[in-house]
Amino acid sequence: KRINEVEGKVQAFLALDEENARAKAKALDEKIGQTDEKGLLFGMPIGIKDNIVTKNLRTTCASKILENFDPIYDATVMGKLHQAETVTIGKLNMDEFAMGSSTENSGFKDTRNPWNLDRVPGGSSGGSAASVAAGEVLFSLGSDTGGSIRQPASFCGVVGMKPTYGLVSRFGLVAFASSLDQIGPVTRTVEDNAYLLKAIAGHDEMDSTSANVAVPDYVKALTGDIKGLKIAVPQEYIGEGVNEEVKQSVLDALKVLEKLGATWEEVSLPHSKYALSTYYLLSSSEASANLSRFDGVRYGYRTPDAQNLLDMYKMTREQGFGDEVKRRIMLGTFALSSGYYDAYYKKAQKVRTLIKKDFEDIFQKYDVIIGPTTPTPAFKIGENLADPMTMYVNDILTIPVNLAGVPGISVPCGFADGLPLGLQIIGKHFDESLVYKVAHAFE
Ligand code: GLN
Repeated sequence: KRINEVEGKVQAFLALDEENARAKAKALDEKIGQTDEKGLLFGMPIGIKDNIVTKNLRTTCASKILENFDPIYDATVMGKLHQAETVTIGKLNMDEFAMGSSTENSGFKDTRNPWNLDRVPGGSSGGSAASVAAGEVLFSLGSDTGGSIRQPASFCGVVGMKPTYGLVSRFGLVAFASSLDQIGPVTRTVEDNAYLLKAIAGHDEMDSTSANVAVPDYVKALTGDIKGLKIAVPQEYIGEGVNEEVKQSVLDALKVLEKLGATWEEVSLPHSKYALSTYYLLSSSEASANLSRFDGVRYGYRTPDAQNLLDMYKMTREQGFGDEVKRRIMLGTFALSSGYYDAYYKKAQKVRTLIKKDFEDIFQKYDVIIGPTTPTPAFKIGENLADPMTMYVNDILTIPVNLAGVPGISVPCGFADGLPLGLQIIGKHFDESLVYKVAHAFE
């Protein structure tokens, strides 16, 4: 009912799976009374970002090149959701192949920010954040390579978590930049978020980068007690380029945390000024390799116009990919080509290590790092389209977290001009419990 009311305006979904959702809900309903054994998220409606592979349910990555792709298997997270007994409502809009910060790079439609329909919902998981904010679903899954869960969560006033790299299986997540990609939960509350992460986390032998660690009960961590917590606030996160109201909201949030018994100090992440360049070299390099599989032979679209094999490859990719995806493939192919590899790709790898070390140094002394999620609130649809660089700057505060592989959450922390702002809480590797505890105490 709610989807029928608001979806015409918000446009969060690429596909609704109404028939199967009703059948699943009915089957779960019939179980009530017959058994006490219920999944962790029994009967909860959930939406799935369209780069997560769903068996027999079209998975397009918001790209024309996958317009007709019906997967024959489920991503590992989908298997885990089946176990938790959620009800999948449909597939959510995104920037094509998760490349973007506004969902305007979708090959199919623009999603709108439910708080103000002239504004973007953020991206690339714009559909995931907008659908939860608009009350169309209770939960959604997004993916975050450089900020794509946290930035839209911030823009839409919901809670979005990018887990530690390796905590959630990437099997069945269509790869953008494999060393950075993570699936994570988007919800209204921190508690819901903790439940959903608990349901999807855990080791998976189908993903060679999956970590073999025990999954703690994140919900148990939500005690409200953060007395003695040591917070680091990077000066780079509240410095130049960050909007005044955003800064103020973070300072206000720190006051709340102080009242709860925490202390904070300003610190520095000295290499964070290189994070954006490092990220765009590495993520585009990985993307150029990952996206080579879309060649008109194996999946989705194939051009009807070619007369020979080579033209078929070229024309399929020419016609199937959007501009931003092509830009990344060209940049990545260039950075990986012989003669440039050492100067760009290898150098970026080295800088990534320095950025990671910045975080490790801070975590020697502090429990969590806190700052804004984004430098500004949601911008207007179309506003940043002309210049890719202004779009890239949106992720300046989220990208270092992916490069370091640590967990980060965005929780709502106020408004500027009627638009939600997000507070980013960053933790040590696999310290999601503490990140949730702090987010929950603040919320
Ligand atoms: N906006 C960033 C990009 O375009 C991050 C995307 C993401 O996290 N998937 O690459």
